[in-house]
Amino acid sequence: MSSQEKRRDPPFQATSAMDFLPGPQMRELQIARLRKAVDAAYHGQRCGLMKQRMDAAGVKPDDVRTLDDIRRLPFSTKADLRDTYPYGMFCRPDEEVVRIHASSGTTGKPIVAGYTRNDLDVWADSMRRGMIGCGLSHRDIIQVSYGYGLFTGGLGAHCGAEALGAMVIPTSAGNTERQVMILHDLGSTAICCTPSYFAHIAEKAPEFGVDIRKTRLRIGIFGAEPWSDGLRRHIEETTGIQAQDIYGLTEIIGPGVAIECLRQDGLHIFEDYFYPEIIDPDTEEVLPDGEEGELVITTLAKEAIPMIRYRTRDITAIIPGRCACGRTVRRIRRIGRRSDDMMIIRGVNVFPSQIESAILRVKGLSPNYQIVLTREHELDQMEVRVELAENALGDRILDIEEIQKSVGHSIFSITGLHARITLAESKSIARSEGKAKRVIDKRTI
Ligand code: ADP
Ligand code: ZN
Repeated sequence: MSSQEKRRDPPFQATSAMDFLPGPQMRELQIARLRKAVDAAYHGQRCGLMKQRMDAAGVKPDDVRTLDDIRRLPFSTKADLRDTYPYGMFCRPDEEVVRIHASSGTTGKPIVAGYTRNDLDVWADSMRRGMIGCGLSHRDIIQVSYGYGLFTGGLGAHCGAEALGAMVIPTSAGNTERQVMILHDLGSTAICCTPSYFAHIAEKAPEFGVDIRKTRLRIGIFGAEPWSDGLRRHIEETTGIQAQDIYGLTEIIGPGVAIECLRQDGLHIFEDYFYPEIIDPDTEEVLPDGEEGELVITTLAKEAIPMIRYRTRDITAIIPGRCACGRTVRRIRRIGRRSDDMMIIRGVNVFPSQIESAILRVKGLSPNYQIVLTREHELDQMEVRVELAENALGDRILDIEEIQKSVGHSIFSITGLHARITLAESKSIARSEGKAKRVIDKRTI
């Protein structure tokens, strides 16, 4: 191992042996845990949904003997959690549940997640292992700028960082000036928040007299929303930190289900806790490693709400082969889209992440944008509002047209669609302290 590699990879013993478990042993552990989880969901669920579905499919918990038998089990979805709101999917009595979280639930009721003491340990352990993979240790100062509260981001990152033994600064989201001050004064070496919020913090820092490059910040752990490689490059180039992708969802546990190691070559999924499958979202057929489809996750160690074959709607693939970092736990590709965030514009399927990539190919723009969809004379219209980077124009007024044209071309070359490009003044599009809202769909059917 070269000295360069030694520096990049934290010592193996600091993380969990699970990250390096040989395949056959991992599968043995998974099948034992899977049987327990299925049994718990079948017998324990308050709403009895799993039992009904398994009975209807003619499969009993004891029929699950190999990992392949998982294919005989019914799927579960977000709708199941909504329909049994709030506690229907719980498998443990209230007195064993020590924490509640809920998803933001932009439409209708939120979905409620519950955790036993053990579940919180599982969660903190995945976050801790993930942070070690990002090169962090107990010597780090970790600023948690995800929102604290029902949202899983804040407390999830917090407990993981505490389990790591790091110095944790629970700033929560918001009050950007204070974020910048704390980052600078307290010497944060790592920050956890949404990528869009970090881009905002980085953009505001100079206004408060701070150059992030000159602070001790070296790692960002960014997730909770899709973000493109273009945004990653933008963040890394403008701030000099290494920007790591972290994935998770409330229904499964929260952030930390999967996370990049320093190689940034896919997100390691903590398979001893979360069993991944990739399916064709239409036929529900299980796809082989390497093929893209919908990620389905079964929780292997969660007690309060064991989740069997949960359809995440997130599109990715399991990356075949082992990561250069040496971990044996498998990796998933970065998630650029959900099967349900697809916009259909004039019959063409377009994802917000494609528009983001197109914008970031053009110089002089900020990574903040909004897509507004309207319908005029029965025809879909896409307006893309993009913001100029500060001082992008100088005195040359003419450049505006050039930039508009370049963005239009760039979007056309990726999507085949013409978009109306509106250039907005620097910092005029609303910022979010949590997940960014990129699409405003004003079309009525
Ligand atoms: P809500 O449904 O209220 O947004 P969550 O916070 O649990 O609740 O959101 C989970 C979803 O966020 C995931 O299913 C996924 O679509 C998205 N997500 C989380 N992390 C990432 C990431 N790193 N890349 C892409 N999408 C992500
Ligand atoms: Zn790795």
